[in-house]
Amino acid sequence: MSLQKWERMFEQKAVKLHGHNWTIMFDDSIVPHKPAGEWFQYIRGAFAKFRCSACNRTWGSSRVLVVFEFHYQRGAKSGTVKARRFRQECKTCEETEMEEPQFDSENIGVMLEKLVEKIRIRCYKEKTGNRKRFRPLDWSEGPHESSHCEACKKGVCRETN
Ligand SMILES: [Zn+2]
Ligand SMILES: [Zn+2]
Repeated sequence: MSLQKWERMFEQKAVKLHGHNWTIMFDDSIVPHKPAGEWFQYIRGAFAKFRCSACNRTWGSSRVLVVFEFHYQRGAKSGTVKARRFRQECKTCEETEMEEPQFDSENIGVMLEKLVEKIRIRCYKEKTGNRKRFRPLDWSEGPHESSHCEACKKGVCRETN
């Protein structure tokens, strides 16, 4: 599990959240576009690598979907972020499990930076001022193995850009 890496990086970005106690965790039950009550969603994608646990083959994918869901408890001055990282399966193994993506630090950083900005706007009603557009997703139109992509199977992959 690479959660520690996400936690460490989120902690750095979350300094901007007034020193409030925000935590991040993974949650595969998140449904894109259907946030739980009083939660907000932020959907993003980035390049990630995968490794098949059966044959050890590795592959990269430029469009790996991450759905963040976040909730602020005003009274407690704390908040929770849940992240669902959509998985992919090996295309050469017949029956195989969906593998979790491995994002590099740079891509995690870009996603978390933008996430924290969303939290500031949604939960703290801040005007972050810089309307400057973030670099669009690195959604290069390379080959995409839709039939092996969990997000494609759920119909939520290509709509997010
Ligand atoms: Zn395989
Ligand atoms: Zn897909």
